[in-house]
Amino acid sequence: MTTTLITGASKGLGFETARRLVGAGHTVYVASRDAGRGRLAAERLGARAVALDVTDDASVAAAARAVEADGGLDVLVNNAGIQVEMGDDQEVAGAAEVTAEMMRRTFETNVFGMVRVLHAFLPLLRRSGAPVVVNVSSGLASLSRMTDPGMVGYPYPGVAYPASKAAVNMVTVQYAKAFPQMRINAVEPGFTRTDLNGNSGLQTVEQGAEIIVRMAQVGPDGPTGGYFDAEGPLAW
Ligand code: NAP
Repeated sequence: MTTTLITGASKGLGFETARRLVGAGHTVYVASRDAGRGRLAAERLGARAVALDVTDDASVAAAARAVEADGGLDVLVNNAGIQVEMGDDQEVAGAAEVTAEMMRRTFETNVFGMVRVLHAFLPLLRRSGAPVVVNVSSGLASLSRMTDPGMVGYPYPGVAYPASKAAVNMVTVQYAKAFPQMRINAVEPGFTRTDLNGNSGLQTVEQGAEIIVRMAQVGPDGPTGGYFDAEGPLAW
């Protein structure tokens, strides 16, 4: 039996990933910073719920203790993320508007939060027979794409979100090298209709979750230290 924890799983891509992995037979923890919403989502899915705010040391440590006490963890999906530079009107604060505070808030969740969760759950993953980590990145993380005027993400003007996801990619590479017995990959779901972008995305959550679900199920012979979308490997 494979046990999987997904951060930020009470809605959006995390919820859809949880739904699919429950369907694939995983025991799934819906991790949510709002315990009530997490419980409701878990009940709908036939999953377990655990309170977890990626920005809070005590919350992450308590979640790791609870999952450990229940038997451990095989798969960690670092999905929780924010895009603070996008306003309600879908206007993105660009280089002229970005502040250190916007950078700090974005990195606190997308990067430091990811490392906080990895650090807390590493001891559990190291005890698994087939440990897997999926870090939800973005196409906007790719330096190759963001410097190529022919690519879709190129015109995106925001600084904080792409920079945070580029950091996610480097975190992925460095952890993958450090833990060769684990499969650790970064994924780009594609532009998906969720609250993150005011539901302006072009794909459904079913389409967006595809690569997250696939990489959560890689076997010991699967790739590690890579960056993928549903079509295959991406340029960093
Ligand atoms: P979403 O519907 O807004 O979901 C984001 C989730 O992250 C929510 O469940 C949210 O919880 C959670 N979260 C935020 N801050 C948190 C914290 N401090 N602790 C724990 N959970 C927290 O957006 P989404 O599109 O599904 O995003 C999921 C991931 O996909 C993100 O990493 C995002 O960057 C990435 N992504 C999305 C797209 C896209 O087009 N949608 C494209 C590329 C990558 P609350 O409900 O409590 O706020």
